[in-house]
Amino acid sequence: MPELPEVETIRRSLLPHTVGARIVRVEVRERRLRRPLAPDFEARLRGRRIDGIDRRGKYLLFDVGDADVLLVHFGMSGSLELKPERAPLASHDHVRLRLDSGIAMVFNDPRRFGLMRVGRVEELDELGNVGPDPLAVRWSAEELRELTRRRRLPIKNLLMDQRVLAGIGNIYASEMLYRAGIRPRRCAGRLRRSDLVRLAAAMPLVLEEAVRLGGSSISDYRDANGRSGFFQMRHAVYDRAGEPCRRCGAVIRRIVLSGRSSFYCPTCQR
Ligand SMILES: [Zn+2]
Repeated sequence: MPELPEVETIRRSLLPHTVGARIVRVEVRERRLRRPLAPDFEARLRGRRIDGIDRRGKYLLFDVGDADVLLVHFGMSGSLELKPERAPLASHDHVRLRLDSGIAMVFNDPRRFGLMRVGRVEELDELGNVGPDPLAVRWSAEELRELTRRRRLPIKNLLMDQRVLAGIGNIYASEMLYRAGIRPRRCAGRLRRSDLVRLAAAMPLVLEEAVRLGGSSISDYRDANGRSGFFQMRHAVYDRAGEPCRRCGAVIRRIVLSGRSSFYCPTCQR
């Protein structure tokens, strides 16, 4: 599942090829995504110019003018790829937007948990529950204290709650907690100030480094130009159970929290 760095990488790879271009044709092969595509989806996009692309957590928001946005979420397996407009459609290519620049933006999603909607930001109820974007804010220990206060759940689960912080999933929650030296199971509300200071510093470091490396390419993730990311080679703990910690040599452990695998170093994380 793409997380914030992967979605940000897709956004950046789309910008030079789509902003300023007009959508001349909207072709839909499959309407049954996480929510069915609205009956007026094609009509509301046709002829619109893409004026910019924003991101909130794992959502992309294409500014298509008249206060409307095209909202895209990648779900478990979605991707947006730029292709020559006449390239043949592949299996699971559900929506193709042809641009007047001669290229097409194609939404592909084998598992169909992704989402595409057009509307005003305030109409898009998906965005109502989305918490602040961890890259848009410089976090301090005090702000993290506000988020964690009286929360009696493991800090890793809190970091992955999209209503609290938008865009962090299993990979980056694991990596941030390693960088901050905090075990994933620690109770969020009981973290000390020194823990929160380290976590506030670790969050942007991990996310920015991941964006710089184009995200983590696991389960076939690619950016809009079909390029893989390289952050998976820097993973300190994620999916490294049984391997030595790169800092101290201790064996990385795997535990299960709320049904998800979690990884940590028993020496570097307390
Ligand atoms: Zn270690």
